Amino acid sequence: MSHLMNTYARLPVAFSHGDGSWITDTEGKCYLDALSGIAVSTLGHNHPTLVAAIAAQAARVLHTSNIYRIPQQEQLADRLATLAGMDEVFFCNSGCEANEAAIKLARFYGHQKGIDNPAIIVMERAFHGRTLATLSATGNRKTQAGFEPLVAGFVRVPYNDLAAVRAVAEHNHNVVAVMLEIVQGEGGVNTADPAFQRGLRALCDEQGWLLICDEVQCGMGRTGTWFGFQHAGIVPDVATLAKGLASGVPIGACLAAGKAAGLFKPGNHGSTFGGNQLATTAALTTLDVIERDNLRANAVAVGRQIREGLAAALAGVAGVVDIRGQGLMIGIELDRPCGELVTRGLDAGLLINVTAEKVVRLLPPLVFTADEGRELVTRLSILIRDFLAA
Ligand SMILES: *Cc1c(COP(=O)(O)O)cnc(C)c1O
Repeated sequence: MSHLMNTYARLPVAFSHGDGSWITDTEGKCYLDALSGIAVSTLGHNHPTLVAAIAAQAARVLHTSNIYRIPQQEQLADRLATLAGMDEVFFCNSGCEANEAAIKLARFYGHQKGIDNPAIIVMERAFHGRTLATLSATGNRKTQAGFEPLVAGFVRVPYNDLAAVRAVAEHNHNVVAVMLEIVQGEGGVNTADPAFQRGLRALCDEQGWLLICDEVQCGMGRTGTWFGFQHAGIVPDVATLAKGLASGVPIGACLAAGKAAGLFKPGNHGSTFGGNQLATTAALTTLDVIERDNLRANAVAVGRQIREGLAAALAGVAGVVDIRGQGLMIGIELDRPCGELVTRGLDAGLLINVTAEKVVRLLPPLVFTADEGRELVTRLSILIRDFLAA
């Protein structure tokens, strides 16, 4: 009997080593990785620049504590603030922690304005994590069931419905923030309309609310811009990052700007591991390689190629509802639950994911080449055709 807590329905495969977009299991079978450990392995596997940077840092110092200065953390904060057009950064270790920091920041902001019971507007089908506050913010009953009482102070609205947000503003005077994913990942690869994003930005300005973008999955160049919100030309007050930020080394970040910056003082928030030398070196190197190798442009080009390739290969196939996404964040919605495609993918040497029951989700590493894109389209379109024909 396993001594692992049964929190994951694990697939019967373990990997021994990877190279770029390819990974080999302990039996020697090779797979094309179109998932990146769920948007984590930004630079693919065994990237020589990242491996060298991590090894060199490990040979110097891994961790000291945030009670001392950490130069790499200061540099990373500078880089992220510049890329996002924001002011300051708090570092932690994961997406849910980054969102916890954002939620605490919004509440703190509210209290400073004299709002004793601050509320945050959140979206249907959102995913923000599995800590108590972030699962309460998540718009999926399955994530919440059994863990009540939920954390109070969240008001839910349909995604892409600005009128619903305005309606909340009219009767609820405790609102301090709106929180959303620009592209919902777990919710099925749903994109916020640019008009909705700009409308939210204007409404938040008008009402004095914070706009919080959870960029944990869609950030770090995945959609072709550093951050998902940059497509619509908006800048949020708070943004969170994690997953792909250090290409596999655990790290999370909460960015703040304008009225959300400068609020936390020593003692208001913290993290033992957050932003240590190892993690911030890995993140700085990830940023360097994304820039050096034009990986955002690659995400745009290869992402388009994959979507167009799938659209052509699946044209006229009954049961394919939609092919959508931005950059290398792609969803293929079918008309029926299709979780079984994940194991069929393993058999075919392909790592993919299914989310929201009916959506095949692709999150390849940003180093994915055009050839790998063609290979993915070939393998996946056969899998989907066979599945739908059965
Ligand atoms: C994965 C994810 C989280 C949670 O991140 P963890 O590192 O698992 O805590 C939060 N928000 C979004 C959008 C995510 O995709």
